[in-house]
This record gives sequence, C-alpha cells and structure tokens, in this order.
Amino acid sequence: MDVNAALADASTIPFWLDTELRPEPLPPLSADEEVDLLVVGGGFTGLWTALQAKERDPNRRVMLVEANTIGWAASGRNGGFCAASLTHGYDNGAAHLPEENDRLAQLGRENLDAIEAAVAKYGMDVEFERTGELDVATEDYQVAELREAHDPDSGFIFLDQQELAGIVKSPTYKGALWDSREVAMVHPAKLCWELLRVIRELGVEVYEGTKVTDVRDAKTAVQVQTRVTAETIEECASAPCSTITAKRVALATNVFPSLLKRVSLHTVPVYDYALMTEPLRDEQMAAIGWEGRQGIGDCANRFHYYRLTADNRILFGGWDAVYHFGRQVSWKYDQRPETFETLAEHFFATFPQLVGLKFTHKWGGPIDTCSRFFSFFTSAYGRKVAMAAGFTGLGVGASRFAGTVMLDLLSGEDTELTQLEMVRKLPLPFPPEPAAWLGIKMTTNALIKADENEGRRGPLLKVLDAVGMGFDS
Ligand SMILES: Cc1cc2nc3c(=O)[nH]c(=O)nc-3n(C[C@H](O)[C@H](O)[C@H](O)COP(=O)(O)OP(=O)(O)OC[C@H]3O[C@@H](n4cnc5c(N)ncnc54)[C@H](O)[C@@H]3O)c2cc1C
Repeated sequence: MDVNAALADASTIPFWLDTELRPEPLPPLSADEEVDLLVVGGGFTGLWTALQAKERDPNRRVMLVEANTIGWAASGRNGGFCAASLTHGYDNGAAHLPEENDRLAQLGRENLDAIEAAVAKYGMDVEFERTGELDVATEDYQVAELREAHDPDSGFIFLDQQELAGIVKSPTYKGALWDSREVAMVHPAKLCWELLRVIRELGVEVYEGTKVTDVRDAKTAVQVQTRVTAETIEECASAPCSTITAKRVALATNVFPSLLKRVSLHTVPVYDYALMTEPLRDEQMAAIGWEGRQGIGDCANRFHYYRLTADNRILFGGWDAVYHFGRQVSWKYDQRPETFETLAEHFFATFPQLVGLKFTHKWGGPIDTCSRFFSFFTSAYGRKVAMAAGFTGLGVGASRFAGTVMLDLLSGEDTELTQLEMVRKLPLPFPPEPAAWLGIKMTTNALIKADENEGRRGPLLKVLDAVGMGFDS
C-alpha cells in the first residue's frame, strides 16, 4: 500500500479550520480599558469562562483578549471527542485523587450534560452527537480488562469480537467496551465560533490579535499589559500597547507560556497529530458499518483515536506523542511527515476495505501535558487572578468545568469546587532541561515497551506510579 499517494494532496491546514465558516478576524484592542472580568485566551477554556461569567451576572463588564484568532490553537484542531471525564479516565482519577474520584466522575457527567444543554439553549450549530465511545481491544491481553468493566446500568457495555463486528468492521478488533453515555462528538472549530457568537450576543467584548504581556497586582485591581500581536522583533517594538485594569482576570492560555511564573514548569507541550480522509461513499460506509457513529479509541499506551464527521469523513489521529527539547511550541512542529505516514499505514490496517481512499488534511498541535494528566488550577493576588491548564489531550469537555472553577475561585467564596483536592493540589512540576527532555524520552520508551509486553509496566513506570506521575487511562 503506497501511503504517500494517499497523502500526496493533503492540505496542511487543520480540517476543521479550513472552511468559509471561519469568521472574519476581529480588531485588536487599541485603547486602555477598565473591566470587571478579563479573560485571556480564546480557546474553549476562555470562551466557556466568558459565557458562564455573563450567565452568572449579565451586568458585569467582561472582555476576552486572544493573541491570535478565536479557536486557532488546540480548540480548533482537536479530535472533537467531548468526554465527561475530568480526570482523563476513571482509573487515572482513582490513581491520583482516590478520595474524590467518584464525585469528580459525577461532576464530569453534569458538565457534559451542561454542554449539551448550552448547545440546545443557544441553538449552536456544532454537529453535537452524543454517540459514546468504543474502546477497542486490538490485542488479546486487552480484552479481559474491558470485559471486567461491563456495567450496563452505568452505560458501559462489553462487546465480544463477533458483536463488535456487527457494529464496526475491522480485522484488527478483538472486542470493545462501549461507553455509551459519557462521550459526545462535536465539530470543535464550529463550537469555538458558536461560543464566540453567543458571548458577543451576551455582551462580552472580544479582541483578537491582542497578546497579554504582563499581569501584575494593583491593590484593588489587576493591571494587564497588552500588545497588538506582531510577527517580528521590529514589529513588536512598534506594536500598539494598552493597559487593562481588571477587577478579576481568568487566564486560559493552555500550552502557551504561563503568565504566572509559579506554574511555568507544570506543563510541557507534547505534539499530537491527525489525518482527515475524503468523504466516504455509501458503499465504503457499508463496508465498515459504524452506523452508531461512535468515537473509537484503541487501548494501548500509544493509541489511535478516530471518528466520523457529519459528511462521513474519518478523522484518524494519535499514536506518536512528540516532545521537543526546551518546551518549544512552534508552528514548524505542526507537520511531521513520518507520523502522517505511520498514521496512514495504521488507518489502512484498521480498515483495509478503504484502500484507495485519500487523505485531504494532515495537521498537528501541542497538548498541555501535566504530570497527573488532567487540569490543575491556581490563583494569585488574593484570588483576583485564576488560571487553569494541564488538560493533557482531554480538554474539549473539561474546559467548561475549568471555567466554572475559575469563576468560583475569582468569586472569593469557598465553594464545593474550590475545596476539591483537584483544585487545591498542584501536580508535580516537570524538571528544567535537559532533565525534562531525558525524562520524557525515557518514559515514552517505557510506555512503548509496556505495549510490546502485554501491558506489563517496567521499573521506570512503576516508580512514576509510586510518586504520582503515572498514567493509567
Ligand atoms: C491534535 C489534538 C487533538 C486533540 N484531541 C482532543 C479530543 O479529541 N478531545 C479532547 O477532549 N481534547 C483533545 N485535545 C486537547 C484539547 O484540544 C485541549 O485540551 C483544549 O482545546 C484546550 O482548550 P484551551 O482553551 O485551554 O486552549 P487553547 O485552545 O490552546 O487556547 C488557548 C488560547 O490562548 C491564547 N493565548 C495564549 N497566550 C496568550 C496571551 N499571552 N495573550 C493572549 N492570548 C493568549 C492562544 O492564542 C490560544 O488561542 C486535542 C489537542 C490536540 C492538539
């Protein structure tokens, strides 16, 4: 199979952003302003924070500033799996926060319900489909664990190889666990743009091309410096700057350099990649089944995730997770030919019925990985500033919850959410370079080895589990 031919014409623009529906850019901030709440970052976290802030108090003056354009980063280029889990899977939550894991699972379900309700309430056209997700076993050793998790009352349904073949047809499948309630599929960029529409209708003032360069305490308020985003050092020097005086500030800057130095070592950018196929014809759809349109993920440490779009393309992503020395985030890493070739090979191994299908898009983006693999929170200046980050590749749903938590923190009140261990406790930071690079390299190799060894975790992974830096999804 010549995967290069299948990839030859693929655009390097993330599929979801490659549409005429993408709104025209909004102008940058050009004057000093005073606001009740400033939200920094126009991805899901910032957008949901702004929306909920207006819902809580329609009269407060809320402004959102975004360095680039709304949804251009992770929020507009992800797989669109919108999961209830706030902890990157129940088992990972149990490993890190055993006491409150069940409560977090419940809060996650309520959060997903609230996303569905907001989509309906505001008439958002975001291709929201609550299909659930099939966790498929592609190795015999993975089947037993999935079978054990069978719990139909909670919506978790084990499917053996034969039952699964009646749902989605792949020669690689040995069985699956269908999580039938707790995952929805969305068009992520449309969700960003619809959230933008809604918050502007609610009165939030939004400025794009406006980068926050400094956040500092000013006794009763917070002083925020902004600069019109510029490409070169010369342009930066002459770019117009403004000062925003904000009573409260929510930082939703994800993988980008933290505006609070104290947590700058708590995340590392790890690149994830995806392909999109051309739309499948009716006979191609018939050859794979998949009428339930579930999201699919396989079970290994190095896993693939894949799903259908509204026009029956297949998004196929995952497998490689690439860290670049020095915590670098750069557009030059968004393309990685060797990963695209691997993904294409794995795609046709999964669905040999589709040989001949072409890929129309190939892209990647950085994931804000933290050492516990789900979001963390912090506040500064007497809770006038709050921030959330660390979603580690599962932030489409959890970002709304992060907005709720940040608003609770900024309210100054002690609420159930501000008292959660998840909110009070920070994950362990990553070490500075070169230790970070070396540690991530060794951990990646250990995870690959565990996959080759029927999931058995070697000494390094056991040590990481013991010190609270292990991952068990
Ligand atoms: C390829 C890929 C696939 C993924 N697939 C999934 C998936 O299927 N399901 C899932 O749940 N998660 C997935 N994720 C993760 C998910 O996309 C993120 O967790 C989520 O989008 C994070 O949203 P955010 O708003 O916090 O961050 P972002 O979307 O990154 O937004 C942060 C914004 O802040 C802005 N910003 C940063 N610094 C400043 C500053 N100083 N001033 C002004 N603005 C600033 C940035 O320009 C950016 O727009 C995936 C991620 C990637 C990269």
